[in-house]
Amino acid sequence: DELSDAYVLVKDGWIEEVGSGEPPDGDVDESVDMSGHVVLPGLVNTHHHLYQTLTRAVPGAQDSGLFDWLTTLYPIWARMTPDHVRVATRVGLAELALSGCTTAFDHQYLWPNGSRIDDQFEGAAGLPMRFHVSRGSMSLGRSDGGLPPDSVVESEDAILSDSERAVASFHDPDRGATRRVVLAPCSPFSVTTELMTRTADLARDLDVTLHTHLAETWDEEEFCLEKFGKRPVEYMESVGWMGEDVWYAHAVHVAEDEIDRMAASGTGVAHCPTSNMRLASGLAPVSRYRDAGVRVGLGVDGSASNDSSSMIGETRQAMLLNRLGVAPGVGEGEQMSARAALEMATVGGAAVLGRDDIGVIAPGFAADLIAFDLERLEFAGSLHDPVAAVVLCDPVRVDHSWVGGVPLVQSGVLVDVDLPQLVSEHNRLSLELIN
Ligand code: ZN
Repeated sequence: DELSDAYVLVKDGWIEEVGSGEPPDGDVDESVDMSGHVVLPGLVNTHHHLYQTLTRAVPGAQDSGLFDWLTTLYPIWARMTPDHVRVATRVGLAELALSGCTTAFDHQYLWPNGSRIDDQFEGAAGLPMRFHVSRGSMSLGRSDGGLPPDSVVESEDAILSDSERAVASFHDPDRGATRRVVLAPCSPFSVTTELMTRTADLARDLDVTLHTHLAETWDEEEFCLEKFGKRPVEYMESVGWMGEDVWYAHAVHVAEDEIDRMAASGTGVAHCPTSNMRLASGLAPVSRYRDAGVRVGLGVDGSASNDSSSMIGETRQAMLLNRLGVAPGVGEGEQMSARAALEMATVGGAAVLGRDDIGVIAPGFAADLIAFDLERLEFAGSLHDPVAAVVLCDPVRVDHSWVGGVPLVQSGVLVDVDLPQLVSEHNRLSLELIN
């Protein structure tokens, strides 16, 4: 539903009432006039690697496909320290926030030189955003037939015991949570079958969700057929990785019957259109997923394969890419609308992350709101349909946002973050890493 002349009443971080016309009489501590703005639910990012903000536009990784891109970047990432992880987390979250994101999931899967999930939560300190972080992992090094160099993989016992520690230390299962932990082995070509199985068992014991990269490229499909005798989705089924507690990043190269089984099991997808174009991975069958009832959210993916972390930009890319009409299930006259893209970026992303408290502006939901000022240059000439304009007109940044009623962005500026100082520190760390 779309309301004009609307009001939203918020109490203690939660939406109490939504309506049109004059708000009901009564005492309020504060009112914010958003006339001339379009107000939407905060956007939800379902796949990212925040540390990759340190390695954007790296020569040698600008024009390659996934496997070559990874083998160029792994040795650089192997030099990261806790400082790199902390500062990159903050920079990536800042960029997401300014582009309308209020809930972010990060898939961190390599932990060199003593870095830990604690460094990511430290990097996010003071930001009111809802932050889900994975205790991700890689265990299958090159000497054992995997893709990553041995220097960035960990022992499986260490991965599992630190996963348990991360959940005990940081995971909040309650409605309205701002910190959650996800277990997320990196991909079929960087962890063993045993780790996939043991991670799924542990996640179900601890009641947390599961995430991995899947069916991203033909290289991966070839790897799975050769090593396991199964296609990627079949392989995941064989290790217990389907269900309402599981979502895959990408899911580009998936067969018709596999889509039906994903829908039947409740398995979700993080669609990453820019990354899929950037690495020439392919076009995910998004319309087919949506028709089949698969949960679909959007992900900007790691900044080394985008190379931006713009959530509203990704929403536009999703709409545009899915109009190319070459994906299975997309016929003529079935182009993805701006509103369908917004739905994936909000309520779709919330469903993928397993949340029933965000993604919608309605009583009982968290007051996670974003607002665009329609007087801006980008919107000139579009005021007859402001909702579609937010996606079509490429506004890049929000003017205001709130998470649980707490201001995150105000008048286009991130609250309580010294951005020039943060960017300068990030650039110093990035150059140190790459040089
Ligand atoms: Zn990724």
